[in-house]
Amino acid sequence: MSNTCPFCSAAIRAALFAENQYCMAVYNIAPILPGHSMVIPKTHYQSIHELPEVELQAFFLFARKITDFLVTYFHGTGFDWSLQEGKEAGQSINHVHLHIIPRRQGDLESPGAWYRKLQNAQGIEIDQKDRKKLDPEKMDTIRHALRESFQHFTGKTE
Ligand SMILES: [Zn+2]
Repeated sequence: MSNTCPFCSAAIRAALFAENQYCMAVYNIAPILPGHSMVIPKTHYQSIHELPEVELQAFFLFARKITDFLVTYFHGTGFDWSLQEGKEAGQSINHVHLHIIPRRQGDLESPGAWYRKLQNAQGIEIDQKDRKKLDPEKMDTIRHALRESFQHFTGKTE
């Protein structure tokens, strides 16, 4: 646990739309494209090497399921994943998190343009005020819609 970690704070639950025993899926408060979400372990781990094997497996299985859901829900045909570990690699919050971004043809000026956008968005996910963010009402609407839809989705695929 870390008192200053935004992913350990109670506020993160306002953005949560799916969870299991070990991890949660959170809609990004400043999405770079529709559907941009993060999968985050519930325990405060700074490195993927700190996750016990069972939690690491759960993390990636959950992430794959969330990705399938987001791609379907947002009518994507592909997706990007990004996990940054270490300041030198662009890790902005010291709590493991995987960005998931549904993609489709022509959604950005080039397929690779997402990464610069993600870098520019680093650090504003939770706690900065000077960039376009979804207002709390819109965030709540999206979260509820995703939560409900995800339950149907898992019902169908399991
Ligand atoms: Zn944390």
